[in-house]
Amino acid sequence: MPEYKAPLRDMRFLIDDVFDFHASYAALGATDATPDMVSAILEEGAKFCEQVLAPLNRFGDEQECQFNNGVVTTPKGFKEAFAQYVEGGWNGLAADPAYGGQGLPHSLGLLISEMVGASNTSWGMYPGLTHGAMSAIHAHGSEEQKQTYLTQLTEGRWTGTMCLTEAQCGTDLGIIKTRAVPQADGSYAISGSKIFISAGEHDMSENIVHLVLAKLPDAPAGTKGISLFIVPKFLPDAQGQAGARNGVSCGSIEHKMGIKASATCVINFDSATGFLIGEANKGLNCMFTMMNHARLGTGMQGLCLGETSFQGALKYANERLQMRALTGPKAPDKVADPIIVHPDVRRMLLTMKAFNEGNRALAYFTAQLLDQAHRADSAEAREEAENLLAFLTPICKAFMTETGQEATNLGMQVFGGHGYIREWGMEQLVRDCRIAQIYEGTNGIQALDLLGRKVLGSQGKLLRGFTKIVHKFCEAQADHAQLKPYVAQLASLNTQWGELTQKLGMAAMKNPDEVGAASVDYLMYSGYVTLAYFWLRMALVAQQQLQAGTGEAAFYQAKLATCAFYFKRLLPRTAAHLAAAEAGSECMMSLPAEHFGL
Ligand SMILES: Cc1cc2nc3c(=O)[nH]c(=O)nc-3n(C[C@H](O)[C@H](O)[C@H](O)COP(=O)(O)OP(=O)(O)OC[C@H]3O[C@@H](n4cnc5c(N)ncnc54)[C@H](O)[C@@H]3O)c2cc1C
Repeated sequence: MPEYKAPLRDMRFLIDDVFDFHASYAALGATDATPDMVSAILEEGAKFCEQVLAPLNRFGDEQECQFNNGVVTTPKGFKEAFAQYVEGGWNGLAADPAYGGQGLPHSLGLLISEMVGASNTSWGMYPGLTHGAMSAIHAHGSEEQKQTYLTQLTEGRWTGTMCLTEAQCGTDLGIIKTRAVPQADGSYAISGSKIFISAGEHDMSENIVHLVLAKLPDAPAGTKGISLFIVPKFLPDAQGQAGARNGVSCGSIEHKMGIKASATCVINFDSATGFLIGEANKGLNCMFTMMNHARLGTGMQGLCLGETSFQGALKYANERLQMRALTGPKAPDKVADPIIVHPDVRRMLLTMKAFNEGNRALAYFTAQLLDQAHRADSAEAREEAENLLAFLTPICKAFMTETGQEATNLGMQVFGGHGYIREWGMEQLVRDCRIAQIYEGTNGIQALDLLGRKVLGSQGKLLRGFTKIVHKFCEAQADHAQLKPYVAQLASLNTQWGELTQKLGMAAMKNPDEVGAASVDYLMYSGYVTLAYFWLRMALVAQQQLQAGTGEAAFYQAKLATCAFYFKRLLPRTAAHLAAAEAGSECMMSLPAEHFGL
């Protein structure tokens, strides 16, 4: 397994220099998050992830979760690591102090989750799902529900899940069959079976709080008839502690390609006692709070696994000796040169580096928006942040996982045949990453969400919210001595983005299939342009620091070189996505389903 080192230098570059988190914390009144505090949190978080979580990663993959008669046992060490995580105060870092949290900014929570996911993705699923459940209860639960459940979840005694999927539906939640029958005492009897429930059953906490989508007897058909319920494994007793066993059981766990130490469970509800969250039939809205949280988290998994894979590949490329450089030996004292001399190996490493660092910038910008959406004084500022978040969330989820998967594949390729062998740990990263393109709404569904719901659904308003930012940046930097050609390239793509959107909007008015036919290419196009903007913001700061002679010249030069690689070698992919997005649906839809094959 590659030895994970938290990329603190790169994280600090973004926090301190590019996005100035400290100024925004001060402006948002997050006075506890002083620069010293932030620094200490990053150092301690890195230590925990490098020393406690990373060593469990490979072992977790090999041992997997075990299922025995309804009981799920996580790999050895997982439970203890969770206790340490809770003890260290990590679980409630960004949670509301009214319910036991520390009230630090959400962006700080996201930085910690990056290190957690990069050191041990499977383990990170347990707190990840818990945080999703916490955000839904916080946003939609009653005060009593918050006191009872949120406090226990924040303090890490209980963990949470998200129970949406059933055998007959994952994407189309309007056809769920789980039923909720009102009881005389105001509770509901929940019956049905959910599949693929992450962290649905395990041995890491005293109780598990399931957030379950179900339908009331008189519910309207489709997604307008879905309600959200809290269904705890053990019902809270009079003191709010885990009491009598509820009618919830784990039927089995899945055997999977990756994240093998994350328990993926069939959860059966047999007239289990449940409590409605929010309004009846408005469950999907409540669930979206959780899903938006989880979608960003899933996008982060692409970054996390891409980063760990890069760290392994970089070390290997400097050590593995094969062939001589085309321009003559670079290590004449050795039997061959290290493979990092070969252009193609550099292509792979730079592709990984450009995606990882670009995705990190996108994620941290989005994290800052989360803070603004939660804490800004004015309703206008909160709304602006929420609109940008709505627009960027499907890009984060899908683009970061598509490119993260590409990065882990390349990392494995750098190792040659050894990458395919388990011992090196590189193939585990490919396997662990693959699910991120599927769950939390497949990337195809994210693309529909972006183009259909967010962009065309707002008549382009949400897109313009972001392209205006890019436009202003390009105007301000149009004459930049070193970056001018890149700024011009970005400005032109930014204009083209609007034009493409208009064309697709017009086509969709005549034929709704045009949206579905163009959406994935549209999302990828959007992702590449978005990352180009963040690469230029990083390059601008790197250039300023080099000119100011602040030291660490190699770090800043690497930023500029990677930016140049991104613009010259990766951004041109937009041309292919543009052509495909504009190609129309006819070439896909004219072939009758029965003519596809035997
Ligand atoms: C390891 C793992 C963990 C998971 N964890 C959880 C969890 O904690 N909680 C939970 O509730 N679920 C969880 N899931 C379920 C996951 O979210 C779903 O598998 C996913 O949303 C896809 O649903 P599905 O499998 O039913 O595929 P389907 O919905 O059947 O989709 C099949 C294919 O059709 C495509 N498709 C469907 N409809 C459309 C459309 N309208 N337009 C274009 N394409 C379409 C999809 O993109 C996909 O490629 C998990 C799954 C796995 C494997």
